[in-house]
Amino acid sequence: MKTKEAPQAKRAAGILGGLVRKKGLIIALVLLVFLCVVGSAAGGAAASGANPQPTRPGLGTPPASEGSLTLTATSDQSFDPTGTKAWATVTKDGGPARTLRAHFIDVGQGDSEFIELPDGRSLLIDGGPTDAGEKVLSYIKGLGYSRIDYVVATHPHEDHIGGLTTVISSLDVGELWAPDASANTRAFEGFLDAIESRGIETHGASGGKAIGSGGAYSIQILGPQGGAQFDDLNDASAIVLVTYGQNRFLFTGDAPSDLISRACGSHVDVLKVGHHGSGTSTNSGLVASLNPTYAVISYGTGNPYGHPTQEALDALSGTTVYGTGANGTVTIESDGTNLSASAERDGTVVAGDAESSDSPGTPADAAATATTAARGDQGTAGGTDATVYVTNSGKKYHRERCRHLKKSKIPMSLSDARDAGYGSCSKCNPPT
Ligand SMILES: [Zn+2]
Ligand SMILES: [Zn+2]
Repeated sequence: MKTKEAPQAKRAAGILGGLVRKKGLIIALVLLVFLCVVGSAAGGAAASGANPQPTRPGLGTPPASEGSLTLTATSDQSFDPTGTKAWATVTKDGGPARTLRAHFIDVGQGDSEFIELPDGRSLLIDGGPTDAGEKVLSYIKGLGYSRIDYVVATHPHEDHIGGLTTVISSLDVGELWAPDASANTRAFEGFLDAIESRGIETHGASGGKAIGSGGAYSIQILGPQGGAQFDDLNDASAIVLVTYGQNRFLFTGDAPSDLISRACGSHVDVLKVGHHGSGTSTNSGLVASLNPTYAVISYGTGNPYGHPTQEALDALSGTTVYGTGANGTVTIESDGTNLSASAERDGTVVAGDAESSDSPGTPADAAATATTAARGDQGTAGGTDATVYVTNSGKKYHRERCRHLKKSKIPMSLSDARDAGYGSCSKCNPPT
């Protein structure tokens, strides 16, 4: 969901006062660059455009290792990137080791994964769209957590950070990680406001950084590349690998398949499929290299994008596939060796167009995403109509990742695009 919204008036300077805002422009800004002043690791990356703040008044509990981007270290945190080290059998509280549980929360069309770490810590990756924030919050509370140690906002799209605003406004957050990217949407502004008002310690997410570890487990960021520029915000998606003993869970945000491949080229046990099952994020080459045992697709039935696509499902045909649209919330747990999966309900994941025909649909999403009133027939039987993208002002339709979609990106079916008189882009050669 990529709602285009008017930029808000300038906000009072504060924790994020370093952000430069230019009314009316979508500027690739630095959400977190102000942090760079505290750590040499992120030091020179993309610092232009922001005013580094020497101090961060109003921040919450400072990290133990003040002045550094390194983690708040405790005695049981020794980062083991190989994941091969024998793991602890006790938690930080001295209790018996627990399982790691990854909950792929059904947030409709969006993404949110809550991971209960085996030492009692927790990790939340994305919070779903704004209207799912309360659900995510109550789900986490229902598991008995009033604090989340690590939050990752994979990228600034509303279907990932919208609901995070509610969650981080209500629960204690240890630290928040997000890529160096921003959007001038109301959802993202609200997210920044919540970070600021809660004084949350924030870190730049880029490949090679370690979020945390606890002897048995580690949380690593594999992408995006530090300092990269993003034509498409999905490319900024933080790609996160959670390792517990011999088990590897890969979370991909909305990253495209080439960037996922670059970030991780070897087997994972569990793949959070990229971009809600879009064909841009999953292909047979990627699936062959990752060879996941379980794949989970997070999507809402009847979404206007045709997610998940048949192409992605075909690529995953040798994998046990769950989808939040078909199965509700999905939980996969690991004891470090063995995995087991469970879901809220039985159901088979089918491609978007076909599934939407017998679903209630998402009129709110459609209204929010579409100035394309013509697209009212997403449930069209057959499912062969490709999704293409147009801009607010252009006369052409494009493939999803075409560079001409910088300013706006409005999905619609190929047939609607043709009916509306759009021509095909000569640069990206969309289907005709
Ligand atoms: Zn998304
Ligand atoms: Zn996205």
